[in-house]
Amino acid sequence: MKNKEQRIMKDINHKISREIVNTAKKHKAKVIKLERLENIRSTTRTSRKNNPSLHTWSFYRLAQYIEYKAKLAGIEVEYVDSVYTSQKCPQCGNIHHAKDRKYICKCGYHTHRDLLGAINICNSTEYIGNRCIA
Ligand SMILES: [Zn+2]
Repeated sequence: MKNKEQRIMKDINHKISREIVNTAKKHKAKVIKLERLENIRSTTRTSRKNNPSLHTWSFYRLAQYIEYKAKLAGIEVEYVDSVYTSQKCPQCGNIHHAKDRKYICKCGYHTHRDLLGAINICNSTEYIGNRCIA
């Protein structure tokens, strides 16, 4: 069961990373920006008990696939600090938590929480390196 699960995850990561890098290529992007998650060390082992969460681990694997495929395509991968990316209003700079999946700011700005994250990562100048591990 565990092997099957890993195979499925690997397959999904391949597909997602390929799509991301292909989209970047199509738009002639030179950089793919990702947010770096906390609590990931280069010594991370496959054992789940050493990992902060399955979600973080999955992202780590996906980020590695993206880095690999982007490199082959001549595209840089940049990591930005994930602080406030899901809380900061791109219009007025106000910081607050999104309720459920909807982000609604006092200034009237509203969007999907995940889209807000993408916008803030895109706008971020908090560059912290080009590897997903600290
Ligand atoms: Zn606002």
